[in-house]
Amino acid sequence: MGNIVAIVGRPNVGKSTFFNRLIGERKAIMDDESGVTRDRHYGKTEWNGTPFTVVDTGGYVVGSEDVFEAAIRRQVEIAIEESDVVLFMVDTQSGLHPLDEEFAKVLRRYDKPIMVVANKAETLDRTQQAAEFYTLGFDKIFPISAQTGSGTGDLLDEVVKHLTPTSGIAPDEGIPRIAIIGKPNVGKSSFVNLLLGEERNIVTDIAGTTRDAIDTHYKSFGKEFILTDTAGLRRKNRIKDSIEFYSVMRTLRAIEQSDVCIMMVDAQEGITSQDISILRLAEKDGKGMVLMVNKWDLIEKDHMTYKRYLDVIRQKISPMDYIPVLFTSVLNKQRVFQTIETAIRVYENKQQRVPTSKLNEVMQQVIAHYPPPAYRGHHIKIKYITQLPTRVPSFAFFCNHPKYIPETYRRYLENQLRKHFDFEGVPIRLYFREK
Ligand code: GDP
Ligand code: GDP
Repeated sequence: MGNIVAIVGRPNVGKSTFFNRLIGERKAIMDDESGVTRDRHYGKTEWNGTPFTVVDTGGYVVGSEDVFEAAIRRQVEIAIEESDVVLFMVDTQSGLHPLDEEFAKVLRRYDKPIMVVANKAETLDRTQQAAEFYTLGFDKIFPISAQTGSGTGDLLDEVVKHLTPTSGIAPDEGIPRIAIIGKPNVGKSSFVNLLLGEERNIVTDIAGTTRDAIDTHYKSFGKEFILTDTAGLRRKNRIKDSIEFYSVMRTLRAIEQSDVCIMMVDAQEGITSQDISILRLAEKDGKGMVLMVNKWDLIEKDHMTYKRYLDVIRQKISPMDYIPVLFTSVLNKQRVFQTIETAIRVYENKQQRVPTSKLNEVMQQVIAHYPPPAYRGHHIKIKYITQLPTRVPSFAFFCNHPKYIPETYRRYLENQLRKHFDFEGVPIRLYFREK
């Protein structure tokens, strides 16, 4: 159904090394509470055109080297329930370890694609050693080296066989799929319950293929939309343990299954760096976005509060300042339906196709007004522009020296596109091509 790949395994087998190889670089985020930076353990990558989200589960529960604690067991269960492929990593250097067997015991209970990744197999000796892991009871074993990258191609070829190959030109279903995401306690369930309280508007509940996932097909103001994963939000406190890990897994899943994400934050807490990091992931994934600052009723206000608050948020989410921001109170039903309407509008913006003639008429003026700077005597000329037939609004600028278009000019063009056409809430892509 989705494209989420989790890496599980005992400490020190090389999970984070492999994660870094897949993601390219380890992204650090600031922990708002402690003020220190820490690593982000999820990210987006792709193999042969199939995009997927990778999660390094080791980053969330720090278990000890030799005790399989309840928390780890729970975490492995969540990882497998919430992902589409599990990479079970073991270490050919140290060989089979009693903890590997504990992980295997949990994993064997599930009917999901599980691949044993026998890491640190740089030598022939260790590659042959990998065979001992067959005793864990899985038939797919891939000797790799996370450090050198050897063997990883074969592994990824197998991984993507179990994922959805979204080509980027797949049409949407025509009805916006909206996900409500955000940290625990910001008001997500209250929001969903308020919407679903309007029973007369609900068309059907669509049972998803993943356990627990119920999507609600909803009709209101003459607009149809699907709220994804309403069950997960309505059933509160399914688990109290591994809260952060669980909420991250859930969020990644929700983003994948939606066209537009409504990110809820608590007005008193403000937007956190974790929220921003999630928004960046959604942007990378090409999702529409709406920011909902909830519990606005709890903020003491004067005539400047709104503007000041908005300025701070816009600055924090920059350069994603095209995301609409709403100040709501689910409790007082303030701007709740307006938020949904905004999300639907964002979806419509995302579907928008600008006719080539209109695009060129507007953008050629923009370019004439402020042409690209010459590069080492090369005069750069953009000849024409066209919108590509992609899921995420993308524009190709055909020009003589695409390599020499500076980032600042790219931003100028993006801002101008946004100024002349309504892409509020929608990530857009610009490509420069040789003509
Ligand atoms: P994690 O605890 O499972 O995330 O493991 P790490 O990624 O932190 O790696 C644990 C240790 O194994 C580190 O010292 C890594 O440098 C080392 N390591 C990771 N991958 C490889 C590999 O492919 N080959 C070798 N020889 N060492 C590796
Ligand atoms: P979730 O964990 O994100 O699903 O959050 P909940 O919906 O469970 O809400 C957490 C708490 O915040 C509950 O006690 C809600 O009653 C409260 N809450 C939700 N929305 C609002 C709001 O707009 N204003 C205030 N004051 N409280 C709210």
